[in-house]
Amino acid sequence: MSFNVTARYFDGKTSAAQNVTVIIDDRDVLIDDPDGEICKIARQDLLLCEKPETNRPLRLRRAQDNGMRIVFDAQDASSVADALRHGSPAVAVDEASRKSITRLISGIVGFTVLVGLTIWLGVPVAVNLVADHYPRQSEIALGKAGREQILFALEQLEDDFAVCTPKNAADRAVQQIVAQLSNSTPFEYDYDVTFVRSNIPNALALPGGQVLVFSGLLDIMESQEAFTGVLAHEIGHSEKHHGLRNMFSNIAVTQLIRLISGGSAMVPAEFILQQGYTRDMEREADQFAFETMERANIRMTDTAVLFGKLNKTLKDGAHGLDLPEMFSSHPDMEARIAQFENGPSTGAVDISDQDWQALKSACDD
Ligand SMILES: [Zn+2]
Repeated sequence: MSFNVTARYFDGKTSAAQNVTVIIDDRDVLIDDPDGEICKIARQDLLLCEKPETNRPLRLRRAQDNGMRIVFDAQDASSVADALRHGSPAVAVDEASRKSITRLISGIVGFTVLVGLTIWLGVPVAVNLVADHYPRQSEIALGKAGREQILFALEQLEDDFAVCTPKNAADRAVQQIVAQLSNSTPFEYDYDVTFVRSNIPNALALPGGQVLVFSGLLDIMESQEAFTGVLAHEIGHSEKHHGLRNMFSNIAVTQLIRLISGGSAMVPAEFILQQGYTRDMEREADQFAFETMERANIRMTDTAVLFGKLNKTLKDGAHGLDLPEMFSSHPDMEARIAQFENGPSTGAVDISDQDWQALKSACDD
């Protein structure tokens, strides 16, 4: 016995919906798209996103959530629910559905509040308010999803690209540096540094504690203190929620709705790739790095030397791939070099030379 119904299909990768025919039979659910391609999913691999209710649309997702959604109209919901319940096995309801509904509602409320505040207070104030109250766990999930998207995009764009697998000593060194910094300046997030093989001398921060460091930057670093300066700057972007602020102020309304309703926190790569930080954000991150290093008693002159080198490399020529946080677009490069040159010239990072070498060669085979 089988049951046919039309539905909207979201592939979990783009926000566009497809109209499809869904065939529910005793063992599988088949999705037939307009191009005639059929996708078969076993019943046990599916979950209902919520308990079926009269006059409410019904959503189906994969048990291993990949963002894919099949949405049935309210009028079909009860017959679809019946068809899914009868058969072996019956399709279960997501245990966490209550939670996601709460999240959806608070998301919509948050969005409405954002629009309201924007009208009353102007965009920047409203954006900061909302960014400050965005749930911490969601920001972490957003950063992780963003990292995956950036890595995916880089893989398409750069031939030589690879995610590096540094030695344990390198990870240990990073965590030790983070610990030394956070000792006097407690951080909101745990920091996770991903090393990426690329000639571009770059580093970037994503929401919720994700930092990417490119090997092109490691190559021109002369000391662990210079690395620490860059890391402290990136941590500044994360701690001050700059990514989130950018997102709220610039993202298209449809994307925002998708973000707060989908729960899977997919960030389009093209968005992150185009997104630079504002001049004020850069200054704020520099100030954060300066104060954090000062409190941790770490010399800043090495960071100034590194910035000087970057400035020179970047003046000599572009790198072809325009990424945010590419230090070329950094405002007032001369002023920032002067700021760090005038910072403390003594005080070291507590990692062994061996661990620093492991960190510096994180992307060497
Ligand atoms: Zn920056």
